[in-house]
Amino acid sequence: MKKKQLYIDAIHKWGPKSQIYMAIEEMAELTHVLAKKLRKGGLCALTGFTPDGEVYQDWKPDNLDMSFLDEMADGEIMLETLCELYHCRRHINKFKKKKLLYLQKLLENDHATHTY
Ligand SMILES: [Mg+2]
Repeated sequence: MKKKQLYIDAIHKWGPKSQIYMAIEEMAELTHVLAKKLRKGGLCALTGFTPDGEVYQDWKPDNLDMSFLDEMADGEIMLETLCELYHCRRHINKFKKKKLLYLQKLLENDHATHTY
């Protein structure tokens, strides 16, 4: 079964309101695990990057990393479900394209500050 159909089936089975609450819960869980990971392991452990920005060659996720990855998956699923609920994938893609171009410009400007 395709993802899109699963999301639509979930909306029909549990209702739009339930899916919106679920999205809120999943985003909160992702926020929680990100904060916990930063507090306990620091930024390097979270990202798999060294302080110099290099990728750890032998990085393997620990249990907290697995929680983070699990919550990221939940968050992505719920964002995709919201796209189906609001029929807004095309609009989201337009916003993303615009924001990514803006990010690219910021990255090309050494003195830019990061704000979306
Ligand atoms: Mg979750």
